[in-house]
Amino acid sequence: MRYIEPHAHMVSRTTDDYERMALAGCAAVCEPAFWAGFDRSSAAGFHDYFCQLTEHEPKRAAKFGLKHFCWLCINSKEAEDVKLAGEVIALIPKFFNRPNVLGIGEIGLNKNSRNELRVLEMQVELAAKFDQLILVHTPHLEDKLKGTRLILDCLKNDPRIRPERVIIDHVEEHTVEMVLDCGMWAGMTLYPETKCTPARAIDILETYGGENLWLNSACDWGVSDPLAVPKTALEMKQRGHLAGAIEKIIFQNPKKFLRQSPNFKL
Ligand SMILES: [Zn+2]
Repeated sequence: MRYIEPHAHMVSRTTDDYERMALAGCAAVCEPAFWAGFDRSSAAGFHDYFCQLTEHEPKRAAKFGLKHFCWLCINSKEAEDVKLAGEVIALIPKFFNRPNVLGIGEIGLNKNSRNELRVLEMQVELAAKFDQLILVHTPHLEDKLKGTRLILDCLKNDPRIRPERVIIDHVEEHTVEMVLDCGMWAGMTLYPETKCTPARAIDILETYGGENLWLNSACDWGVSDPLAVPKTALEMKQRGHLAGAIEKIIFQNPKKFLRQSPNFKL
């Protein structure tokens, strides 16, 4: 088995996790910028985090033969302070020439607040101006449907944004169709408790087909599983999916989307 982990927060994982992922057939891991479990107090904190994502983490992954890529942004959970967000966004362009940067992400909404929406618009503007791919985090539970609608409206309102260069992550049964209908990609996040279980994700795949969809673990510092993608591949096999169909969803699809960035090379 070979697969790409398109969404993992490796800064919060141990070296053992890198080794287990490599042993399971992981060819590349992609790390969106996100909340660290606590709010940073200044733009300098984000600067150091971006250095970690572009300098330190690729070296840690390389020790296990893994390619490491990343996405940069200020996440929605820390986007209430619009002034701070502006300072962080101003830092990002100088990182675009780092060899492992794929685009802007994971931007999006958390509580669907007015300030979060303003910061989302600022980062869509940044992506459009620098012709970057976009990875979007959608809110959890009861906020997901409304938040997904707001995000899609924001992206569709900007004629510079090409839908095939946007991935909307953490989709579930009630949001996947509206994302695919816009021509965007949809990511299913495999979590032990919330988001999608492997069984639900495979049900969605069987319902909507295998186009413009990928699977990720979104493993971070919370309850999550860095091997969720290969475990789901195993479950697909047990359900009778053919090897080619499994490889498409766990390897070819993420490769097809991600190679739209010139930096994504396996
Ligand atoms: Zn994430």
